[in-house]
Amino acid sequence: MSRFVVLVHYHELGLKGRNRPSFERQLIRNITAALEAATLVAEITRTSGRILVYPSDYAAGIAALGVLTKIPGVARVSLGERVAASLVLINAAALRALERSEPFTSFKVAARRANTDFALDSMTLNREVGSYLMEHTEGKTVRMKEPDVTVRLEVIKNRAYLYAVSERGIGGLPVGTAGKLICLLSSGLDSPVAAWQMIRRGAEVVGLHFSGAPETPDSSSYLVRRIAGALEPFGGLSALYVVHFGGHQRQIALAVPEKLRIIFYRRLMFAVASALALRIGAKGLVTGESLGQVASQTLDNIVAVDVVATLPVLRPLIGTDKQEIVERAEQLGTFAISTESTDDCCTLFMPRNPETHARLSEVEALWQELPHELWVEEILRVLLP
Ligand code: ATP
Ligand code: MG
Repeated sequence: MSRFVVLVHYHELGLKGRNRPSFERQLIRNITAALEAATLVAEITRTSGRILVYPSDYAAGIAALGVLTKIPGVARVSLGERVAASLVLINAAALRALERSEPFTSFKVAARRANTDFALDSMTLNREVGSYLMEHTEGKTVRMKEPDVTVRLEVIKNRAYLYAVSERGIGGLPVGTAGKLICLLSSGLDSPVAAWQMIRRGAEVVGLHFSGAPETPDSSSYLVRRIAGALEPFGGLSALYVVHFGGHQRQIALAVPEKLRIIFYRRLMFAVASALALRIGAKGLVTGESLGQVASQTLDNIVAVDVVATLPVLRPLIGTDKQEIVERAEQLGTFAISTESTDDCCTLFMPRNPETHARLSEVEALWQELPHELWVEEILRVLLP
């Protein structure tokens, strides 16, 4: 019997020996959830080094391919057929794979035998299947270098998997294998990409957004929710918290020199994020900062804010160029949302000339005069009632 199958390949090297079974289980859970969310219910099993998804038909297989290539931990996804490991069935399935690839002129066969319990080795399989395909097609040529179509064939434990459709996955590690992080998420371009980079490294990422409400309309949180929606197929946030920050910003604006406002807004954000992290079991913070990109992202200003965090602050974009961030945002679908201009807390009570080289001692002395612990308590009481 032949069945359509989607083969999910993952980077075995990236999976540390002892952790491997739990990584595979997590990846299977994530794949199951993503396919269910896309209403593509399928049978899912595992064989040596591959996860196998059995779609209801070929069209469902194509749809599953689109879902699976976005899931962190997936290196490659292939769509084809599973048959019993007999040369007759292999030849017939190889021909069907080739026929589904029309139009094309050149092809090759690339076989791989995972176990030696199948009599024919990969060289022999390439030759046998290749000549069968030549005999049963017209006007086609075999080309070893860059053929139009490659029919791949993997023999694993008495079964053969054949496919000519194969796409690269997003890579990384399965979400849920690297602990929990809180990402300070604005509606801007950078932080959604930063969040996603940590999601792709297997972290469970919780979003924390500060909106200018009630001093501004709450439109930034609407954009951030849409950004969260865009990230959903790519691993997604596990939760999103929104702080109405305008009131506290007003108090900061009244209390500190205008030049230093941003530093203090940012400090309070880090203090809130650290406190929230302790409550929800997150082990670090994530921001979208990229060195020198804007006034607030000089090393001096990073130092003047960073000390407030009680957990490591991860900055996956710190050495990234804007163009790279833009390209990634386009791929994730967050670019179009982020470039809809709106007021968030960042545009509220902004200084005309923000400090670019804050002095830590000065900032620290002013910070001590503010009721920042009380503010953090007030904000957290609303976030986690
Ligand atoms: P982004 O494109 O992510 O908005 P940015 O280039 O605007 O970043 P900044 O305004 O200096 O840079 O913000 C630096 C980082 O601080 C952001 O990447 C984000 O992690 C965090 N941040 C800024 N504003 C907010 C906000 N309103 N809510 C939550 N986090 C924020
Ligand atoms: Mg911003």
